[in-house]
Amino acid sequence: MKIAVLPGDGIGTEIVAEAIKVLKALDLNFEMETALVGGAAYAAHGHPLPESTLKLAKEADAILFGAVGDWKYDNLERRLRPEQAILGLRKNLGLFANFRPAICYEQLVGASSLKPELVAGLDILIIRELTGDIYFGQPRGRRMATDGPFPGAEEAFDTMRYSRPEVERIAHVAFQAARKRSKRVTSVDKANVLETFQFWKDIITEVGQQYPDVSLDHMYVDNAAMQLVKAPKKFDVIVTGNMFGDILSDEASMLTGSIGMLPSASMNASNQGLYEPSHGSAPDIAGKGIANPLATILSAAMMLRFSLNQEAAAQRIEAAVQTVLQQGLRTADIYSEGTTRVSTVEMGSAVVKAL
Ligand code: NAD
Repeated sequence: MKIAVLPGDGIGTEIVAEAIKVLKALDLNFEMETALVGGAAYAAHGHPLPESTLKLAKEADAILFGAVGDWKYDNLERRLRPEQAILGLRKNLGLFANFRPAICYEQLVGASSLKPELVAGLDILIIRELTGDIYFGQPRGRRMATDGPFPGAEEAFDTMRYSRPEVERIAHVAFQAARKRSKRVTSVDKANVLETFQFWKDIITEVGQQYPDVSLDHMYVDNAAMQLVKAPKKFDVIVTGNMFGDILSDEASMLTGSIGMLPSASMNASNQGLYEPSHGSAPDIAGKGIANPLATILSAAMMLRFSLNQEAAAQRIEAAVQTVLQQGLRTADIYSEGTTRVSTVEMGSAVVKAL
């Protein structure tokens, strides 16, 4: 089992180190190789996704990814910005299906920004299409009134697009995932305004006819954003496009207590996956030893389940996370009175001990 480890920037290195500690404690036969990505790779090699890193990722059975991005690179031209590394990996490896489970652990009900009764027992799955939509649309750019430099640009544009096969394949992923849960899919779109999303809605409906045992409803994204904080437990599987999924899954993270709790898996057609926390590199807390490593540790559990065929080990990690929460251990983001505040490293060590 070959795992490419790409810690990236900011808290990426801190949280990935804890996930590796946990993986090593399982005593399974992993081969792990680490490479630079994002700002760290740009600083060393002049590119956020060097050929060698991409090669390692392509050859691995699974990729454990931290996060990329740093404010100090905000003024670089777009193709060299750290965030291009994750977009490049998704595109190059065809990682079109992003799974973001939002589960509110019983012990963290109080850490959610919503009332306990709204989130207790919450278990929803957001499936975000990951390689299409406006994030990958062409053309994109800025138009100038004259031939002056960019600060003089008059207009900027990105293009939203989806192709039929792209929507069909994510629809199948969503309906199949729903079959293993409570057989309900909500497709989130903006069909009332955007042609791309009327197309999306039509195709999701068409594919849905092949899954008569799964119920399907459609919701506009603005309403979905509201319903997620009004009555989140009404949802089961949400399927949506790249941009709406990006935004809604961050919103959903607060239902669970903290974005530091939300794992994710991005899969391609041959079950190769990239596993990363849903959050970014958090430069505001990087290097302070306070980042929550649990989203990354839970992402490692998803990796064991989806790409490495190690269901029992995945369950052991998830149970160990429950145990440390039960013990009252909390990083700063999920801390509340009466619990014990621990650092990133202490949280990782506690999970290892619980294993
Ligand atoms: P962010 O997710 O990094 O941080 C948002 C807030 O959540 C911050 O206050 C941060 O301190 C907190 N937070 C995030 N993860 C946490 C954790 N594990 N424990 C405790 N608190 C945590 O989003 P941002 O601030 O908008 O972006 C920072 C950088 O990350 C940017 O450069 C952005 O482009 C990049 N980014 C990268 C990815 C990725 O690598 N996949 C995803 C999102 C953002």
